[in-house]
Amino acid sequence: MALIVQKYGGTSMGSPERIREVAKRIAHYHSQGHQLIVVPSAMSGETNRLLGLARQLNAEPDGRELDVIAATGEQVSVGLLALAIQNLGIKAKSYTGWQVKVLTDSAFTKARILSIDDANIRKDLAEGNVVVVAGFQGIDEHGNITTLGRGGSDTTGVAMAAALKADECQIFTDVDGVYTTDPRVVPEARKLEQITFEEMFELASQGSKVLQIRSVEFAGKYKVKLRVLSSFTEFDSQDRGTLITYEEDENMEQAIISGIAFNRDEAKLTVAGVPDRPGIAFSILGPIAEANIDIDVIIQNTSFEGLTDFSFTVHRNDYAKALAILNDKVKPLIDARSVAGDNKIAKISLVGIGMRSHVGIAAKMFETLAHENVNIQMISTSEIKTSVVVDEKYMELAVRALHTAFELDKVPT
Ligand code: ASP
Ligand code: MG
Repeated sequence: MALIVQKYGGTSMGSPERIREVAKRIAHYHSQGHQLIVVPSAMSGETNRLLGLARQLNAEPDGRELDVIAATGEQVSVGLLALAIQNLGIKAKSYTGWQVKVLTDSAFTKARILSIDDANIRKDLAEGNVVVVAGFQGIDEHGNITTLGRGGSDTTGVAMAAALKADECQIFTDVDGVYTTDPRVVPEARKLEQITFEEMFELASQGSKVLQIRSVEFAGKYKVKLRVLSSFTEFDSQDRGTLITYEEDENMEQAIISGIAFNRDEAKLTVAGVPDRPGIAFSILGPIAEANIDIDVIIQNTSFEGLTDFSFTVHRNDYAKALAILNDKVKPLIDARSVAGDNKIAKISLVGIGMRSHVGIAAKMFETLAHENVNIQMISTSEIKTSVVVDEKYMELAVRALHTAFELDKVPT
């Protein structure tokens, strides 16, 4: 008998029929003697609908009220799922975040979990209940309802597993695991049996949407055993989905590259003809940071005749704001020659712990792109990741070419 936390996403909870299927799946696990804590998301589309209603009434809604509204989606889900489980003759009990209680800080719409009181849950489990806990929500020290950011039910699931020292946290979604890349772009993409936590973290932060990045961070910190599974396939007790492991685990699939992530979320800005002297990077990025704009890739050329070019990327939503800051504040201040921008870019990232011990990965990546005539605009690397920025119209071509070149469709031997 194991203690298992299962998180079911919005599409898994999408309709009464789907909820009935989720309940049946839970009943299978229950009949195998496991203790279950189930964390559902709101029914698919519901959180968007609720936030849309809020924005119809106030273009700049207050975070506290947004959380009051958004949290109702998950409250409905837990009640419905508990009823569906009870209908199969199994004891079930639902909890909102504040009933549990899931204590968070007061950062409305992106709160962080501080602690979880497990007393009631343990008691209910001991009495044979399936415990259904609302994802995405908590309560702060002043009694305000909070939410954990979009996709936050993953984090609730992982945090529950950490707090209750569960044997495993299973994330049920509409795909059957973590793939080498998005199968909608590369049909040959292969499901991974295992991936390390660090690789999953990089993939999630570089655009893979399978898990909310915060949940991966949390799982890494508390060493939660995390597994991604589909709720859309027939129940199969042998289905292992994808296991997120820790590097010290043995029997890791020995691939150099585990996956390719990509996104069109960023935009590029360049300040050209910048005098090469101390303080320039700060003069450019200081005003950007002051405006609360996140910066991702940064490159600066070595100087030529005392002048250099400086480029960086920001989220596409911040593009216009960043461009205006560069033109109005930065350019006159540092006497740069010109400012330019491009919001039609894509970032493609190769991720794999094998990069630590293998040379030539980046060279092979550039060779592959050259072969496809894809121009690389920016490059950034970290220990287990190499990213390039390219024109967005070549994104899919580039991802496919890289997937083939690195033989990600083949099981590593
Ligand atoms: N319902 C929330 C959202 O749509 C949380 C989640 O689904 O994980 O973002
Ligand atoms: Mg989700």
